[in-house]
Amino acid sequence: MPRLPPGATLGILGNGQLGRMLCLAAAPLGFRTHVYGPDKNSPAELVATSSTVADYDDETALAAFAKAVDVVTFEFENVPVNAAAFLSAHTKVQPTFKALEVAQERTREKAFFAEIGAKTPDWRPVNSDADLKTALKDISLPAVLKTSRLGYDGKGQVKIQTAADADTAWHTLTGGQSVPPGDAFAVLEAFVEFSCEISVIAARDASGTLKCFEPAENVHANHMLSTSTVPARLDSKIAAAAENIAKSAIETLDIVGLLAVEMFVTKSGDILCNEMAPRPHNSGHWTMDACGTDQFQQLVRAVMGLPLVDPARHSDVKMINLIGDEVSQLDSYLADPAAHLHLYGKTEARPGRKMGHVNILSPRSS
Ligand code: AMP
Repeated sequence: MPRLPPGATLGILGNGQLGRMLCLAAAPLGFRTHVYGPDKNSPAELVATSSTVADYDDETALAAFAKAVDVVTFEFENVPVNAAAFLSAHTKVQPTFKALEVAQERTREKAFFAEIGAKTPDWRPVNSDADLKTALKDISLPAVLKTSRLGYDGKGQVKIQTAADADTAWHTLTGGQSVPPGDAFAVLEAFVEFSCEISVIAARDASGTLKCFEPAENVHANHMLSTSTVPARLDSKIAAAAENIAKSAIETLDIVGLLAVEMFVTKSGDILCNEMAPRPHNSGHWTMDACGTDQFQQLVRAVMGLPLVDPARHSDVKMINLIGDEVSQLDSYLADPAAHLHLYGKTEARPGRKMGHVNILSPRSS
């Protein structure tokens, strides 16, 4: 991939807060940005150089977008396959189709982790209530039933405590709708009593150079990420093994860009992979203030043909998500020079809506 000159345009499919932060990272490197998504006045549109507000199946708008940009990347992995295929036929798209295909579907994702020798929680594909009952004989309880596609922030998940919950769980997940045969609508997964949850974000450029951010320790509340803390309280061998999983995954998928891998660390020190995303990730927002470069700039560098840099961390950090009303309690953060605030420009603070985040820095301890 030739190095794109200042003034070149990075196209971003999706115009939420990840797209916004990507635009903000592209600007200091002299690049323009063009965001594409269905929502007007979106967080990204407010800061991008240009914007297209159109549906993902609008081929006229997609064609014009492809023409207006030098390269396209995504801010979310659930890009409709047709839109990704259309754009790939008209311009350079990074990361590739294969990365999207794997990350969009949990059974493929789990098979992929097995392919690279990484463990996952025990799981079975499930496509009917009968399948679920069979799977419940193999998977120890409690367990989690998850839709194979389009799940995020705990949406499309039901916890199963006893085998007697099977019918209700299946009904809740399918909304009582019938499921086409032959597919894996859902997966049943053992519930992991983890000692902590971590994530690693790896970046890879077009020459194959790979740089990894160190693992973040993540805490979820109501199925949403609440905080990420770095350094994570991890044995150095486990931290290195987690980084190796992310490196092996990004290399095998041949991604030019980013890959975030979320993992559970068990009490016995095993690493079980939960899921991955070939894009910037909420659990990487700590990099924006605690490192020499952040996940967004690494992605811009990778897809625009610039070299990656060493993302060494200079400070300890706790990233706190500001969800819903929490965004109205900013006074203490505004008064604290160690608190680095990032608001997404959203005006309506609905419950469960990510409104911003704050990185609280302290001197590097280890
Ligand atoms: P997911 O959408 O699969 O990332 O799930 C959201 C969150 O739910 C995870 O980050 C965990 O905190 C929790 N969770 C999901 N699957 C499991 C599992 N198999 N065992 C324990 N906790 C889980």
